[in-house]
Amino acid sequence: MLRTYQIDGEKVDSIDLKSLVISKGIKVSNEVYKKFSSTNRIYPDPLTCNCFILPDKTVVQMTDIALHLNYLKSAMSLQNLKQMKYFLQMNTPFRLKVSDSGKPVLMHGESTVTEVEFLPESHFYEQMTSSGMPYLGNAVLQGVDTLSFQCLWACDYARAGYPCQFCYSGGVFEQLEKRGKPMPPVPSLRDAAEMTDYAVNREKVAKILQLTGGSTMDTRAECALIRDYLKEIDSVAGLKNISGEVLIYTTPPADPSEIDKVFAAGADRVACSLEVWDEKLAQIITPGKWKFTTRKRHLDCQKYISKEYGPNKACSSFVVGLEPAKSFLEGAEYLASEGIVPIASVWIPFGRPVMGKMQAPGLDYYREVKEGLAEIYIKYGIEPPGDTGFNVCICRDTWNHRSEVSSNATGEGCCEPKSMAES
Ligand code: SF4
Repeated sequence: MLRTYQIDGEKVDSIDLKSLVISKGIKVSNEVYKKFSSTNRIYPDPLTCNCFILPDKTVVQMTDIALHLNYLKSAMSLQNLKQMKYFLQMNTPFRLKVSDSGKPVLMHGESTVTEVEFLPESHFYEQMTSSGMPYLGNAVLQGVDTLSFQCLWACDYARAGYPCQFCYSGGVFEQLEKRGKPMPPVPSLRDAAEMTDYAVNREKVAKILQLTGGSTMDTRAECALIRDYLKEIDSVAGLKNISGEVLIYTTPPADPSEIDKVFAAGADRVACSLEVWDEKLAQIITPGKWKFTTRKRHLDCQKYISKEYGPNKACSSFVVGLEPAKSFLEGAEYLASEGIVPIASVWIPFGRPVMGKMQAPGLDYYREVKEGLAEIYIKYGIEPPGDTGFNVCICRDTWNHRSEVSSNATGEGCCEPKSMAES
């Protein structure tokens, strides 16, 4: 059952709280890092994808605003420094500090929201591959059980001057291309396989694998490259040892049957992400996807997967917070009715402004999304990827609590015992 908490006198559940913390960020006191970073997986480095765990086991991404700003300042070109005016306006009511009893505690303003936990320590980010590539910055451990490669190949759309507005990596690729600089190094097949082996077999901190890269113009080559990554991972780490699932994000190929290579190599699901459903907003926010891949190709490919491999095998990620909840839910329902899984990733507005804004929506928005998704998942038998949930997505958390969320939304069977309330 979802726990509840008090924020500004209002009762919120763990999914509401997760959405707010992801979208508003958090200030983490140095004391927290000092006390816990030698025993737990929490480090003063934004590349380590820190998270905390709420009392009902909901995993929450912690974007420490201060660390994040320092990182952006050091990584930014002069051009991007113009964006600092947006960052300087950013503030968050959430803080993480050490309580008098020595526990990590989430605060909202001066009020205590709840004690939280961190995951046990890991040595993942201290490792290097045999070729000398550091794990840090090239792969992340997400939540309780997931290893993600965020960018195994560069984004051609961004290099061509059409990055998605919300995408920090896309902005970096665009700037490097404009300045005639080389693209950042990416893990080779062997690097990715060794990192997977370490996370899955040696430390046993991952049972779910996510492979992601940028959008490419040569989609045949992209599908072949993914196949090669999976083959190498299989030979070094053994795909059979990945007891959860292998989720691949790829550009939808012009010929959807190219995706067969990816499934044959061991993918459990394939996502071709639309990010935004509203067509007018999609043209502005995801110009490369709109221009080069087109909406039709996305849908054709997702429907091909659904038809050939069955429901819940094709996915589409959406960045929730960029468009009205209503249009997102319309898209989610359309896809779900075709057996395609809508994934809800909460917009983190500290990377780049979208349509001149870095302001995420409020609580009502995320509630509408959560309740709408729960109903859609139930109605169409859709199950999003993950187990305990990913750091920045609320789809699996919603699915894990779908009956409760849905009945709370409709008022049926809404009888939460008082003892479950946090405060
Ligand atoms: S297509 Fe993907 S990698 Fe490229 S800018 Fe958009 S979200 Fe980023």
